[in-house]
Amino acid sequence: MAGATAGPEIERLIQLLARLPGLGPRSARRAALHLIKKREALMAPLAAALQTAIDKVEVCKVCGSIDTQNPCTVCADARRDRAVIVVVADVADLWALERAHATNGLYHVLGGTLSPLDGVGPQDLAIGALVSRAHGPEVKEIILALNATVDGQTTAHYITDLLHEANVKVTRLAHGVPVGGELDYLDEGTLAAAIRQRTLF
Ligand code: ZN
Repeated sequence: MAGATAGPEIERLIQLLARLPGLGPRSARRAALHLIKKREALMAPLAAALQTAIDKVEVCKVCGSIDTQNPCTVCADARRDRAVIVVVADVADLWALERAHATNGLYHVLGGTLSPLDGVGPQDLAIGALVSRAHGPEVKEIILALNATVDGQTTAHYITDLLHEANVKVTRLAHGVPVGGELDYLDEGTLAAAIRQRTLF
């Protein structure tokens, strides 16, 4: 085994970077070296941005998203359609829908999906808060934008049952052919779902 190539401070930086999703030890070394070379142009602003995030990022008390203001930017936006709440498992899903400009509604972040195998039950997710929001007088529709996985669909069914009493329409995302997708390449489950959920042309 070779010894350390750099001092403990640099090794520590590399170790921390290696914990980021998508970065292994090798790319963490590359990233550390890049940051050190761009100390003024990149590393200092990054450190400042991280410190701001530590100081200011909060969980939105309405929807469970994260932002530097509370209620978050989306919840505070008066142009949003308050009749629609889009339920997502994670903030990453909310960001994905926002990038796609997919909806003008509000969101509700569950903080995961039900997963008996991983010991995630209803009490671990923001389901109670969703049910009380769904009873709000303005709310007309709850869109369940959850993963098309067993856990995602189990969660969707569970929430749908709970919302039976609320005066809202509960919808979920369509399953089927992706935009630009070729039928020959789709798996059987997707193809079967697309046929079942066909729409009038
Ligand atoms: Zn919010």
